[in-house]
Amino acid sequence: MKERVLLPSYMKTFSCVGSACEDSCCVGWTVELDKRIYKKYKNIKHAELTSKLNKGMKRIKDASASNSKYAYFVMDQQKRCPMLNEENLCSIQLNLGEEMLSPVCTTYPKILNRKGTEFELSAKLSCPEVTRLALLNPTGIEFEQSEYDLNPSWAINSVNGAQSIGGSDISWNLREFSIDIIQCRNLSVSDRMIFLGLFMNRLQVLVDKKQYESIQLLIDEYRSKLGNKNYISSLENIADNLPMQIKTLLELIMLRRKLGISNQRYLDCFESMLKGLDLDRSQEIEIRDIEEKYLFNYQEYFVPFFSDHEYIFENYLVNYIFESMFPKMDTNQIFEQYIKMSVIYAMLKMHFVGISGQDKGITIDLAIKLIQSFTRVIDHYPSYLKGLVEIITNHGFDTVAHIAALLKDRNVTSERIH
Ligand code: SF4
Repeated sequence: MKERVLLPSYMKTFSCVGSACEDSCCVGWTVELDKRIYKKYKNIKHAELTSKLNKGMKRIKDASASNSKYAYFVMDQQKRCPMLNEENLCSIQLNLGEEMLSPVCTTYPKILNRKGTEFELSAKLSCPEVTRLALLNPTGIEFEQSEYDLNPSWAINSVNGAQSIGGSDISWNLREFSIDIIQCRNLSVSDRMIFLGLFMNRLQVLVDKKQYESIQLLIDEYRSKLGNKNYISSLENIADNLPMQIKTLLELIMLRRKLGISNQRYLDCFESMLKGLDLDRSQEIEIRDIEEKYLFNYQEYFVPFFSDHEYIFENYLVNYIFESMFPKMDTNQIFEQYIKMSVIYAMLKMHFVGISGQDKGITIDLAIKLIQSFTRVIDHYPSYLKGLVEIITNHGFDTVAHIAALLKDRNVTSERIH
């Protein structure tokens, strides 16, 4: 079905690279099946596929079962989907066509959001090909309205409850402004995130008071601040809090590790990060020692890469905002959404600094590997992400000042470490 769809331009060139993929989505993940497709697969009479399907599918019979989560494919010993052939190609798609794929398989890595009658299409950075296309454009992510052929089998996330002003939806104005902030290259990416936090903090107050009619005025006020040189330079003077950054972020990263991770690409990055920070997993973390090592890596190896490739980090955040529909106005927890995004970004940066020390620098390929595998193990675990926000809140760090301290980059132009 052809629809008018808002999408980042990179989506027009995306296509799955199939067997050339370095981290196939058909390996290491549970492939869930809805009731409709499960029944279809049960009735397939095909010389090669019938027995593979019958052996590979398992019904979900516990309390988590529903029509949309009705069954799943049991991964083989190498954690590969049983329907993959030797060339890592899907035998259902090869033999029966794309229309016979389950909604999960046919949709991923695309994210199709619908708000009323409007569609938005984007994609998850857990797919390496999407990560390359979305992040490696130095001029930034651009958006366009386009006629797009939407596959009726794709899963749709419907979003509703958007607050409106005079009948028009304010949530797009908020998202557009959030993207404008993150793409404002007069500021460092971390300062753009801090600016976004100041804005979100004020937005939360308006939402709490249900003063939706004042939201556009707030956007206008902050848009003018974004163009105000004095205001912008005041952000540059905010101090970082390195001990707090390191301690908190490591705690959150280690928590994910404890929950179990099987993705080898991420585990490679994780081990590199630990080694780059001189961390031994068997010992208690000595934050002071790490602080020195962190700063050394940061200045010697991370900053040179970051200065030339800040657009990668900008594009990462812009993609996050667009595909997650940040800030979602169908919940009142606006600032909580901002905390989540900030913590994810700060954790990613911590990985970069650690790995840069181990590899004595960062290459584009390494950046793609890290961002893609990090997204794969972090972004697809809602319970862990919810836990992150709870930990930040329990530490009393859920204020704009604390999140700013967590995000702030050390200004290394004025000081040398050694
Ligand atoms: S992760 Fe992306 S490129 Fe790789 S197999 Fe899946 S859709 Fe294709």
